[in-house]
Amino acid sequence: METAFAANPIVAFRPFSLSSDTKFARFARGVQSAWPHIVNAALPNLCALCGNLSHDTLCAACDQAYWNESRLRCVVCAVPLSGLRWASHARYHCADCIAVPPPFDATFALADYRAPLDTLAVGLKFRARLALAREFGLRLARVAQDAWHSPLERPDVIAPVPLAGQRLVERGYNQAWEIAKPLARALNLPGHATLVQRVIHTAPQSRLDLDARRLNVGRAFKVAAQAQGIRGMHVGIVDDVMTTGATLEALARTLKAAGARRVTNFVALRTPKN
Ligand SMILES: [Zn+2]
Ligand SMILES: [Zn+2]
Repeated sequence: METAFAANPIVAFRPFSLSSDTKFARFARGVQSAWPHIVNAALPNLCALCGNLSHDTLCAACDQAYWNESRLRCVVCAVPLSGLRWASHARYHCADCIAVPPPFDATFALADYRAPLDTLAVGLKFRARLALAREFGLRLARVAQDAWHSPLERPDVIAPVPLAGQRLVERGYNQAWEIAKPLARALNLPGHATLVQRVIHTAPQSRLDLDARRLNVGRAFKVAAQAQGIRGMHVGIVDDVMTTGATLEALARTLKAAGARRVTNFVALRTPKN
């Protein structure tokens, strides 16, 4: 965010140089750390990747360089297809999904989870850069609408991967719900913030290996009591980053057990498996 301040027009056009020791810079850093939501709302015209002035969340150069990736992905788990068969299959299923179909039916991802786009997910998750969530949500809506051939592929309701209550309190927002809201609006679908809930407090996934992750999330979710009417419904589940897919698998299993007909995942960024 410090580069973002330097590129802010109000700051950049001041007649004196803004070194990191000026009163204003100290004030700005103080405001930034105390009220990140307010500062991010007040600085909408900076590219989230390079910090240059931009009318959009990403400037045209970064958008072109990093973001508009038309990579072919497995329609079920969104794992990227190897370069050899680039664009040869319209509805590609990866070997893993053919061998053992996961409990979800489809996954949309915007791009691979790698530099520099990974900084967007980190900014959203830990620095409350909520404008990025809107960007993710609107892009996911466009990707999905381009891919859907039949009304059956459209979910009936959109819901986020839930955070544990404790972490929601610590962070103050659920980044998955922040993506889900603009996505649901753009698709003209109802959004349900608490359709699925965590039942046990799981350890942060990043500290666990693959097997431990699966165990960790295996019994972590339940469908909200007031949402038992999902029987026969197609549920869209939203998350910021999909890594092993263990969380989304556990969630889809829970939804199917509660009678959901179909589950489609919407994730901003996807890591290749393992
Ligand atoms: Zn840029
Ligand atoms: Zn797959």
